[in-house]
Formats: sequence, structure tokens, C-alpha cells
Amino acid sequence: MTIATGNARTPASSALYRRAERVLPGGVNSPVRAMRSIGRDPIFIASGSGARIQDVDGNSYIDWVCSWGPLILGHCNPQVLDAIMQAAAHGSSFGAPTEGEVALAEEIAQRMPSVEMVRMTSSGTEASMSAIRLARAVTGREKLLKFAGAYHGHVDGLLVQAGSGVATQGIPGSPGVTAAATATTITIPWNDPVALEEALAAHEFAAILFETVPANMGVVPAKAGLLAGLAAGARRNGALLVADEVITGFRVARGGGQELLELEPDLTIMGKIVGGGVPAAAYGGRAELMRRIAPAGDVYQAGTLSGNPLAVAAGLATLAQLDEAAYLRLGELTQRLAVGLREAAASAGRHLLVQSVTGLVTPFFTEAETIDDYGGAAACDQEAYGAFCRGLLERGVYPPASQFEAWFPSLAHTERDVELTVEAVAEVLKELPR
Ligand SMILES: *Cc1c(COP(=O)(O)O)cnc(C)c1O
Repeated sequence: MTIATGNARTPASSALYRRAERVLPGGVNSPVRAMRSIGRDPIFIASGSGARIQDVDGNSYIDWVCSWGPLILGHCNPQVLDAIMQAAAHGSSFGAPTEGEVALAEEIAQRMPSVEMVRMTSSGTEASMSAIRLARAVTGREKLLKFAGAYHGHVDGLLVQAGSGVATQGIPGSPGVTAAATATTITIPWNDPVALEEALAAHEFAAILFETVPANMGVVPAKAGLLAGLAAGARRNGALLVADEVITGFRVARGGGQELLELEPDLTIMGKIVGGGVPAAAYGGRAELMRRIAPAGDVYQAGTLSGNPLAVAAGLATLAQLDEAAYLRLGELTQRLAVGLREAAASAGRHLLVQSVTGLVTPFFTEAETIDDYGGAAACDQEAYGAFCRGLLERGVYPPASQFEAWFPSLAHTERDVELTVEAVAEVLKELPR
């Protein structure tokens, strides 16, 4: 085996990791950062600029993670940076309304016709928790339908293990999550219209939650007809259709996955790009539904730092640069990366399944022709993916350290970045044991 653990080039990171492990569980503040699934120490980052990041040992990488989605313009975009500095100079938080929040809500509503009103939060988890509360209040129902392999933040009731059977009853996916919290969650496989019909026939749901383009089991788009069936099924059932666009919102199209896929959800959950790299998220929908939120209505939901001026400024400065031309360019770059990854695999005599939409790419280590659900994603060769990541990191390419995540091309990546990445990928694939 020619690919080492890869810690040799990162002694300062490893030293920081030892220090971090004493005061932070697992040495990190969010699990995937620990790089455990690829079998190496985490890399501590010192700085980023455009599509590059530098670690504390001085190594430079082409960054395909970009903070897991928010940085669609890359690191330290000059306009975003300027907006944050200006906002900070005026005061970082007031706990009182500011004009920026209104402008950001207007911008979101303009891009997503299904969203007439918006409530801002500080994380996607909070936004999805609050959207569920609203859906339950509006419908007077308790049950939720979600898809195996979909991630909607670490909300207790949504941390339900992927069920392989049809309409699996919720089993808590983490210690500390009560059976009561997940008892009202029904999980079915993605891209399974039969399971969907059965679940809709058997239960009255408050909400059907879905990612418009699932990207938390790798990129696994809906097959033809699934989303239309989902929308019609929700209507028949009396459930609210809740689109989780925390990743896809303002990434896959100007108006998110709902524009790309011609959907009109009742409620939409947003995050990541709306905060431009500063903590912010939101949920929104038709005014008639959103007016149930306090203080307009009786459904309580609040946040000390919600609509934070720095985050709002960063979000607005980010969205201001995302016009139709930007999405064309991002789509072209994504396509170039996807094709390049396939060609690199072919040149190494290896099968790699690459699934992508604008702004999202996943290379799956599988012999399968398509991955349509969590079961397919889970059957991929994760050990090979881990060795692949370690090899890329050695060569200055920083991929997501999990087979169950998307690569995030940004507008800061260039054709040359794609070319260098593809070269590194071809080299690593040739060295990988079979
Ligand atoms: C990241 C993510 C969330 C959770 O957002 P946080 O800000 O990490 O709480 C929810 N849904 C999807 C689809 C996500 O990718």
C-alpha cells in the first residue's frame, strides 16, 4: 500500500489536535471535521483565499469543501469581506431590528416565489426544528415523513436511523434522543414511489421533509416523477411540503432547487449560503402560514442572534453576486469537474460513479451504474474513498472527508483548479489498492 496515513506533512495540525482533544470532544466542534472516516488526523486551517486554503503547517490545498457549502464565492471574497467589516464597524448585534434583515428577506422572497415571508435563525438545525413546529401547529398533526439518508440538522425527531424497510417506524439514531422524540417520524427510502404511496396511505402527516437535491448521502438526485408524486401526495394527505434547501438554496439555481425542479413547497428551510460564511439560516413560506409565528401569531420561536447584522451583510453581499451568469459559470465548472473525475478514473482503469448537479458533485466508489438511495450510497467502498482522500490531501487537494458528502465547486475555482485536481485524482486512483 503506497498511500500513508498522511499525517507526516502536518505535524503542527497533529500537535493542535492532541491539544484540542483535551478540551473539545474528539478535538472538533462538528464530527466530520475530525477526518476519522478517512483515517487521519484533522487538518487545522490557518487561512483561506479564493479556492485555496492553507493549513497551520504551511501546506496549501485546492478547497472542494468551502465550509460545506456557504462559500459559493470562495474564501475572503472582497465584497463579502468588505460588507462584514462595514457591518462590524457599526455594531455587531443589537437584539433590535435592522434594515439589513428586511433587505435579505426581500431578496430571498424575490428569488423564491413560494417564500413570501421569512424568519431568520442562526443555524439550519434551528430552522428545520422551527419549520416542523410550525407545520405541526398549522396542521394539528404530529407525524413527519422523511427520507433515509436525508439530513435536516441534528433535531432530535429527525435523527432517525436509515430504515431499509418500507415505512420504517422511527428508531432513535443517537443515544440521548428519546423514543418519544422519534416515534412520530416515519422514514422511507428515497426514490421509492411505492414506499411513498404506502406511507401516505397509512399516516396523516404534519410535514413531508425532503432535500430538493439530496446531498448528505452524496449527491443523489430524484428520479423522474418522484418530486411530482411527492407534491401531489402531500396535497392529498393534507401534509405540508417542506423543502430543505440548506445546501441547494441559491447553489443549484438562482431560486434554489425549487426553481430547478419546478416545485412549490409550503415551507422552505435555508442556511449556508444565506449567511455568506457567517452563522445564519432561515425558514419561510406563504404569508398565511408564516403569520402563525410569534409575535404575529401563537407559535413561539426566537433567537438572541437571529438576523445578526454581520451575517445578514455577508448573506446580502453573497447573493448580490449570484446572477444568472454566475449559475451558468458554476454549472459549467461543475460539469468540467464531473467529466474530469470520470476521465481520470477511466485513465486509471477504475470505475467511479460521478453524480452531479450545478454546484454539487460526488464521486462514488462503486461498480453500480447509479446510486438512487441511502442503501446504494452505504454500499460504496468507504475504505477506498478514505485512501483516495488521504492521497489527494498529500497532493494539495482538499476533498470532503466522507463518501456521504458533496464536493462544493465555487465561483472562485478556475479551470486550472479543476485540471490540477483531475491530475491529482488520476495519480491517486492509479496508486489505490483494488
Ligand atoms: C447543513 C444542513 C442542515 C443543518 O444546518 P446547520 O447550520 O449545520 O445546523 C440542514 N439541512 C441540510 C440539507 C444541510 O445540509
